[in-house]
Amino acid sequence: MLSPFHSRRIQLKVLVINSGSSSLKYTLFDMADESVLCKGLVERIGLEGTNMTYQAHGQKFEAPLDIKKHSEALKSITAKMTDPEIGVIKSLSEIGAIGHRVLHGGMDFSEPTLVDDAVKASIRKYFVLGPLHNPANLGGIEACEESFPGIPNVAVFDTAFHMSMGPEAYMYAIPRKYYEKYAVRKYGFHGTSHKYVYGKACEYLKLDPAKAKIISCHLGNGSSLCAVKGGKVVDTSMGLTPLAGLVMGTRSGDVDAAVVTFLQQQEGLSAAEIDTMLNKKSGFLGVSERSSDMRDIRQAMADGDPKATEVYKMFLHRLTHYIGAYYLLLGGADAILFTGGIGENSYETRVDIVKNLAPLGCTLDEQANACRGKMCTISTPDSKLTAIVMPTNEELMIAMETVKICAK
Ligand code: AMP
Repeated sequence: MLSPFHSRRIQLKVLVINSGSSSLKYTLFDMADESVLCKGLVERIGLEGTNMTYQAHGQKFEAPLDIKKHSEALKSITAKMTDPEIGVIKSLSEIGAIGHRVLHGGMDFSEPTLVDDAVKASIRKYFVLGPLHNPANLGGIEACEESFPGIPNVAVFDTAFHMSMGPEAYMYAIPRKYYEKYAVRKYGFHGTSHKYVYGKACEYLKLDPAKAKIISCHLGNGSSLCAVKGGKVVDTSMGLTPLAGLVMGTRSGDVDAAVVTFLQQQEGLSAAEIDTMLNKKSGFLGVSERSSDMRDIRQAMADGDPKATEVYKMFLHRLTHYIGAYYLLLGGADAILFTGGIGENSYETRVDIVKNLAPLGCTLDEQANACRGKMCTISTPDSKLTAIVMPTNEELMIAMETVKICAK
């Protein structure tokens, strides 16, 4: 398997776009050395109080904007990028390609793809599976087509890496006709992040990416686990949508599906209300009745809040359950990786997680574990399972994938 990092040192400036329904996040990379030339965010597009941030040359600029559309946001961004004083390029022709984060590629995409009309039609086809993200992602692509005519756009799907899963992992045991009619199956998300940290870990540990066995834990506001063997996904914890799996900031993770019909009957809730409850009002927030944020949960635990302690224990329990299962499904593992806001920063949480991994022969180096937000081995040298903090960089991965596609 080719390492995702083989495309390094290509002379190309790549703009990475993550377009939300009312926001546009951007990063401009110089892929010659993978440095960030500038980055920022336009928020509240089409709403009152539109705001733009622009970071370059070690400085951060912030300003209100009078715009209504994503294409207008792009014009403001490019004006900053080419500004004689605070800009980072002389002309837009220096941008060689644009990479877009797209949430759901359904069954059509197992790789990043150069955008054409057929690709846009597929992204549109999967609006039904990613109703909040896919329309916004497509909007970002169309805004770029308008603002950067002739510059190639590449769609990098959150689901693509997981398309290597086998049916034993992705099929749901419900009547086959729903898979055939609606493509109801497990897709998995955070694929760009899991692929990035897998590749980085192979480099770091000098493992052959075609043979390595790795459990990747992306723990943030949204969390997912991924078991990867030889660059192929054996299983991942999110499902048809990002709702499944671990206990998350506001998402429930796994529940007995009968909970849905029971609550619909008891509370007279509509499908949309149940969906909002499980996605936005559950997880840390729902159980603690306090916050969706791990820092707040840990503070509340320190203050003796029993509900915060309970949901933290639920988070650990579910995570341990999945790690154990993935260790067996992989037939052992070379390493376990921690990434995402919690995985990279919360060393106290990593202490608790690794304690539960003692039966796998994983032992923590307490001193090494004090690291925060940087790549480091946190297990002891004699640990049977190597534990690593591996900061993710989805934007850089999208830029690398974009270079790879354009090089073809
Ligand atoms: P993300 O979605 O990847 O940005 O991660 C957000 C989550 O990371 C939130 O639950 C934060 O509370 C958590 N987080 C970020 N920094 C820390 C930290 N220093 N300690 C504990 N949790 C953290």
